[in-house]
Amino acid sequence: MSVSETALDSGFFVRWMTAAAAVIDREAEQLTELDSAIGDADHGSNMQRGFAAVVKTVAEGAPPATPGAVLIAAGRQLISTVGGASGPLYGTLLRRTGKELGDAAQVSPEELQAGLSAGVAAVGQLGGSAPGDKTMLDALTPAVAALSTSFRAAAEAAQEGAVSTVPMQAKKGRASYLGERSIGHQDPGATSSALLFAALAEVAG
Ligand code: ADP
Ligand code: MG
Repeated sequence: MSVSETALDSGFFVRWMTAAAAVIDREAEQLTELDSAIGDADHGSNMQRGFAAVVKTVAEGAPPATPGAVLIAAGRQLISTVGGASGPLYGTLLRRTGKELGDAAQVSPEELQAGLSAGVAAVGQLGGSAPGDKTMLDALTPAVAALSTSFRAAAEAAQEGAVSTVPMQAKKGRASYLGERSIGHQDPGATSSALLFAALAEVAG
């Protein structure tokens, strides 16, 4: 089946959030280690707490009926449970994407790509950030662009984007306080963004 024939329903989005929570749980220590080099050593625990709350809301209770409702509920949980900068940023990403999907019962990968493009733009607006600033946007932006090829290509682009932050000097967020000393470390938020796209590729099979 080609990508464009795939219809993604609310169950798919619940599986995505559940897979994201699992991979974040597995990699939490590494995320915190990255954040200890150029931040305040809380990114792993922030994401772990946030996605545990997301799973409780979208998978353990009555699941939201539409893809848009799943992402809006997930985004709301991240905003209210994650203390750090990443909570409002990821919360905005998912809420804005969910709003773009509207109340359709199923969406195509193309519609998901359009929704995520709006979500990523909203992150940049909220953060006052752009690709090249050594943030989650360096993984999210190429990942969303590569979604027009496949979910697997998007996951690979996100991973390459995360690695591309190593030689960058941080312009936004806590890491920017370090100036040139932020160079040589992979951005924690770009790394967790790559995990979200790895989870998406995993559930898309
Ligand atoms: P905090 O920095 O408050 O401790 P986290 O450690 O949870 O929050 O998240 C840090 C990550 O958030 C960074 O690695 C970066 O990717 C992302 N981030 C921080 N500020 C911005 C911003 N202005 N725009 C985009 N992403 C940002
Ligand atoms: Mg931090």
